[in-house]
This record gives sequence, structure tokens and C-alpha cells, in this order.
Amino acid sequence: MADQAFVTLATNDPYVKGALVLGSSLRNHNTTRKLVVLITPQVSDSIRKVLDKVFDVVRVVDVLDSEDSAHLALMQRPELGITLTKLHCWALTEYTKCVFMDADTMVLSNIDNLFEREELSAAPDPGWPDCFNSGVFVFQPSIETYNQLLQLATEKGSFDGGDQGLLNAFFSNWATKDIHKHLPFVYNLSSISIYSYLPAFKAFGADAKVVHFLGKVKPWNYTYDSKTKSVKSEMQDQTLIHPEFLNLWWDIYTTRILPLLTEHGAVKDASTGLKVEEVTEAVAQMSIAAPPQPSISSEECRERWEQGQADYMGADSYENIRKKLDSYLQ
Ligand code: UDP
Ligand code: MN
Repeated sequence: MADQAFVTLATNDPYVKGALVLGSSLRNHNTTRKLVVLITPQVSDSIRKVLDKVFDVVRVVDVLDSEDSAHLALMQRPELGITLTKLHCWALTEYTKCVFMDADTMVLSNIDNLFEREELSAAPDPGWPDCFNSGVFVFQPSIETYNQLLQLATEKGSFDGGDQGLLNAFFSNWATKDIHKHLPFVYNLSSISIYSYLPAFKAFGADAKVVHFLGKVKPWNYTYDSKTKSVKSEMQDQTLIHPEFLNLWWDIYTTRILPLLTEHGAVKDASTGLKVEEVTEAVAQMSIAAPPQPSISSEECRERWEQGQADYMGADSYENIRKKLDSYLQ
């Protein structure tokens, strides 16, 4: 099955962590297909060496510097940067069929049977089920399709500003034409669906094959306690109603990925306690959970933090951060 592959994408080091856990989970469930990761030059050299260990092919794609049609397309629509990078998967013409998976997905069982499906097969989006979710999809590499997608991107853009809007506009009869192209929801179970329809999760969740950590906060943004084997929980975080997938992600990360990252000098220390990056993540996480200032919402507060405008005198003050870290360390 050398002509079929699972493909993912990571444009920066945090998303590479996700790609590594995904790749490791596919191997762990004995896939017979190739594993391909698309990266951009922003990904650091030390972490690329670890990608080489987990993936068969690490392909650097550079939308910005290349002189091809993708470059031209991006010049006209710079907001579609990551979207256009994802489209590079259609240029992998050495494969006859591929399954694209977001770097924030993780497999729970062997899913090689997806290769029996045709382009474009995908599962419904939990927010708008007449659209497919582009976190997991079966496709057929083709330069012709690639160029048509780029053309649509430049001429019409994407209705949601991302790859999902563009792909749904392109494969616009997905909702109505052929039920075989509807993947069962368990092939792309989003963490949001767990709490938004808990009885369904209780009834069918045991059949989950792929979990998708869709949304702003990704598994690598949490802090994990390797002693209790659980992520640190914030009472108001609904995704932690069923933290087992998140804990599994972290279990794979700490047992399989972190040793590789340490070996290649991509993290400082894998021995004990909080690692430098985990402290940073805990601090970032803290601002999400910090009590909002009277004048702005917690969402705005978080956005400001993410834009580098931390409220050092208020919610994000050193005193609050220290208290938070102390509570983790108790
Ligand atoms: N991605 C990336 N770098 C980014 C953002 C996204 O490499 O800065 C890739 C990655 O594969 C990711 C996918 O694009 O899984 C889609 O983005 P994301 O998963 O964040 O969107 P969501 O599923 O939450 O809508
Ligand atoms: Mn995703």
C-alpha cells in the first residue's frame, strides 16, 4: 500500500506536537499506509528530526517563497495562508489516494478501511452538519484539482476564511449526492460534541475511532500531571467533562514523544516537575481561566493575552500567576 498515505500538516512547533501524537497513534494501531507530514520552514530543525522518526515523509512546503500559483494566490489573499498550505496535500501525486487528518486529531483504532472511500469523503461538521468537517477527509491527489482549488480561493475566497469553507464550496454536493461520502461521525468525533450532546456520547462514544480537539484550546495548551496521569482541570472548562481523550493524548505525548524530543534537544528536560514550556503553557492557560476584569469579557481578556497584550497589573499580574502555579504544585 505504498501508494496510499495518511497526510497531516504542521506550520509551527506547537502543531508539530499534535502531528507527532497523531502519527504515533496511527503507528500504534498498525496502519499499513505511509505517513506524510507537510511542514513550513518555521518548524525548527531539532523538531524536524523527531518528525523523521515518526513519519515516512516530511515534506517542506513553502507557500510564501515559492514561485508557483500558490504564491500568486496568496499574494492576492494573504488571509488564506494556512488554508492554502493545507491544499498542498492535493499536490502529493505520488499517492493515488490519501486521508488528510488535522494535527489536532488522534486515532483510537485502526482506520485503514477509510481508503475504501472515494474523494471527497468526510464526516459532518458538528456546528453545521450540511457542511463536512475538514479535519478528516479522504481525497485523491491531482494537480488539476489543486489548481482548481487555488483558483476558487483567489476568485471567491473562503466563506469562513479557512480551508473548511473553501473545500465545502468546492465539493458543494457533498451533503446531498452520495451517502457513501458521509463518514460516520465516530471518524471525526469533536470534543465539542461530547458535552453538547452528552447522551449521544454516552450511547455511541465507545465506538469512537478518531477524536478531534477542534477549537481554540488544543491539547498541548493544557498542563498535565504525569503522576496522576491527568490534565489540570479548570471547573468552567466544559471539555473536561470527559477528559479521557485529553489524558490519552498526554499519555502518548509524555511516554512516546517527549523522550524523542528530549533526545533531539527539542525540549529542555523530561525528568521531573514542570518543564519550561509547560510553565509557559500553564501561564497562558491561567489567563483563560483568570477572573475577567469588570470592563472586558474573559474572551477579550484571552484574546489580548494571545496578542501579547497581557494585563500585567490585573488578571495576569505576577502575583496571580504565582498563586496559580503554586496551586498546581501542591
Ligand atoms: N494548522 C497549522 N498551523 C496553525 C493552524 C493550523 O499547521 O497555526 C493546521 C493543523 O494541521 C491544524 C489544521 O491546520 O490541525 C486546522 O486548524 P485547527 O485544527 O486549529 O482548526 P480547528 O480544527 O480547530 O477548526
Ligand atoms: Mn482541527
